[in-house]
Amino acid sequence: MTQIDNRSSERPAPPISDGPRLRFAPSPTGFMHIGVFRTALFSWLYARHTGGKFILRIEDTDTTRSVEGALENLLEGLEWLGMDVDEGPVIGGPYGPYFQLQRKALYLHYADQLLKSGHAYRCYCTRERLDRVRQDQQAQKLPPRYDRHCRYLSAEERAANDAAGLPFTVRFAMPLDGETAVPDPLHGDMVFKNSDLDDMIILKSNGLPPYHLAHLVDDHLMGITHVLRGEDWIPSAPLHVQIYKALGWEPPLLYHVPNVLEKSKKKLSKRRGAPSWSDYAQQGYLPEAVFNFLALLGWSYDDKTEIFTKEELIKAFSLDRVGVASGIYDPEKLLWMNGLYIRKLSLDELTQRTLPYLERPEAEGGLPDSVQRPLDVEYTKRVLTLEQERLKTLGEAAERVSFFFLKDLTYETSLLIQKGMDAPRTHEALVQARDLLNSLSAWQHDAMEQPVRDLAAQMGLKAGQMLGSLRAAVSGSPATPPLFAMMEVLGREVCMQRITEAIARLAP
Ligand code: GLU
Repeated sequence: MTQIDNRSSERPAPPISDGPRLRFAPSPTGFMHIGVFRTALFSWLYARHTGGKFILRIEDTDTTRSVEGALENLLEGLEWLGMDVDEGPVIGGPYGPYFQLQRKALYLHYADQLLKSGHAYRCYCTRERLDRVRQDQQAQKLPPRYDRHCRYLSAEERAANDAAGLPFTVRFAMPLDGETAVPDPLHGDMVFKNSDLDDMIILKSNGLPPYHLAHLVDDHLMGITHVLRGEDWIPSAPLHVQIYKALGWEPPLLYHVPNVLEKSKKKLSKRRGAPSWSDYAQQGYLPEAVFNFLALLGWSYDDKTEIFTKEELIKAFSLDRVGVASGIYDPEKLLWMNGLYIRKLSLDELTQRTLPYLERPEAEGGLPDSVQRPLDVEYTKRVLTLEQERLKTLGEAAERVSFFFLKDLTYETSLLIQKGMDAPRTHEALVQARDLLNSLSAWQHDAMEQPVRDLAAQMGLKAGQMLGSLRAAVSGSPATPPLFAMMEVLGREVCMQRITEAIARLAP
């Protein structure tokens, strides 16, 4: 008989008055793409909507696939997205431990119970035998399935195997006929013919359970009321329903949530480059925009409202509209949404949140390393006022605004020469513009604009030719915020110096 960790083996599910209990049960097997967080977000939103609990459980029984750092990355991701956890590995809780590896004794106990009640059996088949069976099935075009060899061993054969110390797994003995119905509020009842189902392993030879037993024991003992998980789990759901039955437990409500798909309708996957939360953070997506975007991947409120604050989502979220809209991952839409959220920021907030992106090293996407850090906050704020309308991510700010901060501009002299102009005429235009600007008493955009336009007209130039040359001279860039507003922010001294330098470049 297996020794059980006393604390939680027969812990009853919490009383209904505790409200819904939902969990996020990731396996720390790598850096999770954003689709995984989407399903967790639905659970979180439902827990918050109903005043229930959101529980984090780490499914780490597949020790061969555990990846160092994955857990930390996951915890940081939850924090970044603002999904707080009511019970879990860091915060603890009454139904812990929240790492499956620390719950091994519980799984052994229930595997034992299933063996004793005849719902499971020891399988002594070697890998070689299982491979052979599989190959034969393939050759006969039969579905690959365990041939139930060990299910029918005699008591003597079992005793002999045990006496010989043969390693074994434990398999669940599925009913051989009849049907298993999997109730699912999203899909309706899904009915499976038992004769099509396999006797799956519920305890591996190393004494650790795979997902099938581990999640189920934990969901029960942790009092989980609603399980939201990817629809990939549908084929295993009849097994789970049968295990619940064999243990005499009421299953939680199972919701198989549609996968997040790429535009090509392929499942979003890390292998095909699906981003993780940290990619978004690095590129300067706002967590509140990503949160909003994720909520609409497979849930909709009314098929048209798209912008929701977190509070509005908590209020509006319901499980019965999950899966109504297809969860197509559209990076363009996220970019659009992020721009919208950036425009909604106050200038102070925009500045505070953009500064770290500007101040990070050049190699990580920050301003050129020659620009001295920390940046002047007031100046940065004035620069960002000019860019707020256009910014789609905070990460792209550095490239857009670097000329506001650089001491020396590098650009091709040809950038100064506009369509229909040549070097001497551009030279003349800039000389005259400099003299005019020099003579202005106020360095304000509205005081500059008309005189410069008038000057262009006097010289027989199109406004665009004059403005284009000035723009290139003061920024070294063809596309910038409105010229005069930008010159006002750059200041008289910098502009004069840059125009003078442009004139020198064009000197005959
Ligand atoms: N550990 C499982 C996974 O990461 C959890 C699935 C579930 O939510 O039940 O796929």
